[in-house]
Amino acid sequence: MVAARPGPGNPPSDPRDGYDARVSVTVVDHPLAGHLLTQLRDERTEPPVFRTLAKRLAFAITLEAIRDLPTTATRVQTPLEETDGHVVGDLVAVPILRAGLGMLEAVTDLFPEVAVGYIGLERDEASLEPQSYYRKLPDVRGCHVLVLDPMLATGGSGSAATAAVKEGGPASIGFVCVVAAPEGIRKMEADHPDVPIFTAAIDRQLNERGYIIPGLGDFGDRLFGTE
Ligand code: URA
Repeated sequence: MVAARPGPGNPPSDPRDGYDARVSVTVVDHPLAGHLLTQLRDERTEPPVFRTLAKRLAFAITLEAIRDLPTTATRVQTPLEETDGHVVGDLVAVPILRAGLGMLEAVTDLFPEVAVGYIGLERDEASLEPQSYYRKLPDVRGCHVLVLDPMLATGGSGSAATAAVKEGGPASIGFVCVVAAPEGIRKMEADHPDVPIFTAAIDRQLNERGYIIPGLGDFGDRLFGTE
């Protein structure tokens, strides 16, 4: 288990108290991650730049998320001789619609052969629980799945998407986000303590409308220029 580590953008008080005992939370503490996240947080960042920054930051977080994945030994012929190599295999990316799309290209650029599944969730206004309106998953049995959702807020969608992926029997799941709220981490800890979380920051709290504070606003709106 990887202990929660401080990272750029964390407030001085430690909102991780109380939940890092069971769930593994890795805060990417590379200066580049903090640099990119700060620009994403900036309300003046317009969608075209936001999209570029989101992809770069997702790239940095993904590197951390795949750090402990098993690799397969192989041999490779260089122009000079044959030598040992290794490959990462059986990777599946599952963005949660729609904001997760802003992180997908980082994974497909790194691993063009990655299989991609999609999960769309919306809140049922009666039960307030996330309901799936779209699900198209490849065969994930025995695969290493990265669930992509930039804002781990209440954790409702993240937990539901993770449960859906688990039904397929993957070898492992990693939850990759940009900003996590303590509430979302606690939800994931309660429902999926076996699923490590990778993020660029843990923010202070949710507000009454479910937005992460200080956060960066609505990720999907800022990505796609909608309101
Ligand atoms: N989703 C977002 O896009 N932003 C938040 O702050 C919370 C959920």
